[in-house]
This record gives sequence, structure tokens and C-alpha cells, in this order.
Amino acid sequence: MLGTMRIVVLAGGIGGARFLRGLKKAAPDADITVIGNTGDDIHLFGLKVCPDLDTVMYTLGGGINEEQGWGRTDETFRVKEELAAYGVGPEWFGLGDRDFATHIVRTQMLGAGYPLSAVTQALCERWQPGVRLIPMSDDRVETHVAVTLDGEQKAVHFQEYWVRLRASVDAHAIVPVGAEQAKPAPGVLEAIAEADVVLFPPSNPVVSVGTILAVPGIREAIADAGVPVVGLSPIVGDAPVRGMADKVLAAVGVETSAAAVAEHYGSGLLDGWLVDSVDEGVVERVESAGIRCRAIPLMMTDIDAAAEMARAALALASEVRA
Ligand code: GDP
Ligand code: CA
Repeated sequence: MLGTMRIVVLAGGIGGARFLRGLKKAAPDADITVIGNTGDDIHLFGLKVCPDLDTVMYTLGGGINEEQGWGRTDETFRVKEELAAYGVGPEWFGLGDRDFATHIVRTQMLGAGYPLSAVTQALCERWQPGVRLIPMSDDRVETHVAVTLDGEQKAVHFQEYWVRLRASVDAHAIVPVGAEQAKPAPGVLEAIAEADVVLFPPSNPVVSVGTILAVPGIREAIADAGVPVVGLSPIVGDAPVRGMADKVLAAVGVETSAAAVAEHYGSGLLDGWLVDSVDEGVVERVESAGIRCRAIPLMMTDIDAAAEMARAALALASEVRA
């Protein structure tokens, strides 16, 4: 390929961020644009919190709590304790003192009239993530989950389902509220049109990548870009590597397996799919769905392992291009 390789990645939080760290190592000269999920965003204590954008920013910028995978390193919780002393919650969402500063700056800039994309760019001036991080949309999109609680049907915010309820009750439906009216943020469609390859990291296919694809125009732009689209399975051995993706897959009628997730994206969108070595047996099924498939180790135990996965994704992309 001539010139700098342009890579577009649709990312959620932890799975997306850890993969991106490997991708940067595997392709240090590439021009990487990350389209971040904002369906998880929530207003807390009057502040706008963007968990997935921040996880990417902190992970790539060296400020992440490594063990936890989200939030800041060396964190303290004084503000949260003081709020609790006033009886002001929610107590179930972990916001540390360092993290609070990010949300204060963001909320202040949004209040002054800057769109989320400009605010994200400003925050990234401090963190220097080494990628261009763009929210999927400047418009408000909020993922809600339909559940039955105490015999009553209701819709709760995704964070309430995920963090407070720990996905302990079945989800009947996942609704990205506002997505239909949302427009892709400035730069999103341009980055896709100019990309040499589009990657889906092992992010949640429903509430991370699925939410980004629900913004009108993004799915179409990717399908029509005429460039290889390669994804990596977040499901290994018929279970999520981390978290409760099985609950939201069930809500959209998709079985929790690497092959079913590939079929869910479909050959109209995906050209290539990487599954873990333990799922070697599904390669044929995926290929018969019209998606080129390879089995390799997909556990991001460290940056080198993630870099190896990124190399394999780029290799598969050039294979499907040929
Ligand atoms: P979230 O927004 O923080 O939930 O993060 P993402 O949506 O970006 O990623 C969540 C997904 O990452 C989960 O479904 C996990 O199964 C997946 N995941 C996390 N670590 C790994 C890993 O090491 N390997 C693979 N293949 N998937 C992983
Ligand atoms: Ca998320």
C-alpha cells in the first residue's frame, strides 16, 4: 500500500481500548480514527459522563486503571463520599475524584456550546491518545434496556442495567433512544470514505458496535466504502471474555457464539472475522456465510498479545482485498 495506511475502528470501552493499544503498536505509522460509542453516556450529578470515550482516552493516554479496565489510575473517592453524606446518589456508579475533573471540563464546554466532538478533541489534547477519537454523534443517544422488575415492565438506562443490576435480569429489548434522529459527528463519514480498512475490535456487538451502526449513515457508509471490513470476536468458547454480552445478545435474538456474532453483522458488512483458536471448529460455518474467517489466539493478556491480534486483522484485510 502506498502512503500512510488509514484505519477506522468502531470502539466501545474496554475491549475497544485494549485492542487499539495493540493496533497502535502493530501499525505505528498508521493514521487511526476511532469512532466511539456514546450510547452508554449518562448524566450524573449534573455532569455529562461518557464512559466509552473516556476508557479509550485514558487507556491510550496512559491514565487508565489497568486492573479495572476503566476509570483513572491512583484514584480516590472523596467527592463521592461527600455526595453520599448528603444522601445524593447514585452510589452504584463509580466516579473517582480524578475522573470527576474530566466530566466537569466536558460539561462546562458543552454548556458553553461546544459539540461533544470538539470537547472530546479538547480533552484529548491533554491525553494525546495517538489516534483521532470522534464520538459517533454529537446528538444525544442513550441506550435503554427493557426489563421486568418486580413484575413490572420498564425501561432502564443501560448503565443502570449493566452496573446497578449487573445484567442479573433478562433484557427484553435494547433501544438506542435518539439514534434514529442522530447524525454522525463531523469527520465520521469522511474518515470512513477515506479509510483503507475498517476494523471492529472485540467490542460488544450489541451495545457498543451495534449502537454506532444504529446512527443513520454509518452502517451504509461502511458497507459502501469498498474497503475491507474485518472484525474480531468478543465471544470466545461461547462466552464473553469479560462482562455480560450474552445478556444483550439474547435480547436481540443472537446466540452467544463467535459464529453467530459474525452472522449477526452479516456478509453485507463484514468481509473478514477472527475467532479464537478454541473456536477453530466454527471457521467453516462463518466462511459459508460469505465471511473469510481465521482462528488465532484472541486473549488480550498484554499489549503484545493485542498487537498480534491487530496484525492478524490487518493481514486478513489485505487477504480479502486481494
Ligand atoms: P465496554 O464498553 O467497556 O463493555 O467495552 P467493549 O464493548 O469495547 O468491549 C466489551 C467486550 O470485550 C466484551 O464483550 C468482552 O467479551 C470483550 N473482551 C474483553 N477482553 C477481551 C479479550 O481479551 N479478548 C476478546 N476476544 N474479547 C475481549
Ligand atoms: Ca460501553
